[in-house]
Amino acid sequence: MSEEKTAVELLKEKLEFKPKNGYDVLSEAEIEKAYAFCEGYKAYLDASKTEREAVKSSVKLAEENGFVPYSRDMQLKAGDRVYFINRDRAAAFAVIGKEALESGLAITVAHIDSPRLDLKQRPLYEDNELAMLKTHYYGGIKKYQWLSIPLALYGTVVLKDGSKVDVSIGDGENDPVFCVSDLLPHLGKNQMSQNAGDIIAGEQLNIIVGTRPFKDTKEAGRVKLNILAVLNEKYGMTEEDFLSADFELVPAGKAVDVAMDRSLIGAYGHDDRVCAYTELMGLFDAKAPSKTLVCLLADREETGSDGNTGMQSDFLDLVVRRLSDKLGGAKEEIYAASKCLSADVNAAFDPNFPDVLEKNNAAFLNYGVAVTKYTGHRGKYDTSEASAEFVSYIRKLFDSNNVLWQMAALGKVDQGGGGTVAKYVARRNVDVIDVGVPLLAMHAPFEIASKLDIYMAYKAFSAFNCE
Ligand code: MN
Ligand code: MN
Repeated sequence: MSEEKTAVELLKEKLEFKPKNGYDVLSEAEIEKAYAFCEGYKAYLDASKTEREAVKSSVKLAEENGFVPYSRDMQLKAGDRVYFINRDRAAAFAVIGKEALESGLAITVAHIDSPRLDLKQRPLYEDNELAMLKTHYYGGIKKYQWLSIPLALYGTVVLKDGSKVDVSIGDGENDPVFCVSDLLPHLGKNQMSQNAGDIIAGEQLNIIVGTRPFKDTKEAGRVKLNILAVLNEKYGMTEEDFLSADFELVPAGKAVDVAMDRSLIGAYGHDDRVCAYTELMGLFDAKAPSKTLVCLLADREETGSDGNTGMQSDFLDLVVRRLSDKLGGAKEEIYAASKCLSADVNAAFDPNFPDVLEKNNAAFLNYGVAVTKYTGHRGKYDTSEASAEFVSYIRKLFDSNNVLWQMAALGKVDQGGGGTVAKYVARRNVDVIDVGVPLLAMHAPFEIASKLDIYMAYKAFSAFNCE
């Protein structure tokens, strides 16, 4: 029996705003679609443990969806799909629209680098007959989280003769893994009285890489020598070749479902590959867009977006230049008319740590893709802020396409804060807003995201691109 609503209830419904849990508003069929979508995402994550791997797996997906590499002598027309690779660590994907470039681009950006342990340039040494690798951490990590967990080693080595060798150990079936050993609690009295930031020093993040001596010698350094022999046999490298290599240690293992009800995904690197994947899938949906679409996957966001593969480089300008060379338009005019969704993860409310978020303005798991008007810290420093007009555009776009979304700030005022690449796009005179998936345990070796939210991020990018 349905009960009549009272006048007050009706008024409340009309005037009050209450965000909704996706499980209360989505159909069973749509929830099933969301879960199925996430299987593709998990496979993408497993193939994208580093920014270089993410470029490869993103290009593979794009090629399967009709994208071809850009070349200077190609002609471009509406509907064409091209991609651009920047130094194997960043990439951009474009779908040519029907309108002139000066009517504006629909830009989506995300980053594909994640916090990790890099190897130093001369990493290998032996200490008391253990061969070890020295690391230098990359990005905002809690160093203690990287102790006593299995790690995989990924690398690109350019050998003395200029040839390139890719190394990947730890994620293959039957691969060995690596780790930084933690101190046993029995002897941890001094360690446990330290501040969490001092529990392990950066110079203690050393990886065990071998214990077995080279068989034909009793000389010191024979364990290290044995590892060099293995590296030489497998990859043709010598110790000096570490100098011209990019090596990264990342958590080993695959993305997995989390919780009894399988509603969550736990994995390394959700930040920000969850936005990279959902952006790409949203881009592939656009068959004959009116605006030209550009999806840019950037590197080095975790350390400030510096460097030629980061969002502060001119890579986006180069892409726009290459498009405008073929299709006409002045760069400044194109940017002035453009819109951008800057996609990055946000902090989800965590019942274990309720004090750092302000509940009215926090993101909640299963409440959809998070939209953030501004990031930054203290008095809104170091951030662009989307205008009321641009938020209104996003609101209409998402609502009319049944995108479940929530407005969310990153933490309480003065609690800390964080930045995204949004301001580097805004700097080019583009309308930009932050959009992304809320996470638990952001930057941990095992981050958690909701399947519904991931799917809604995809729906948001699809709506933006298919306008
Ligand atoms: Mn991020
Ligand atoms: Mn991050």
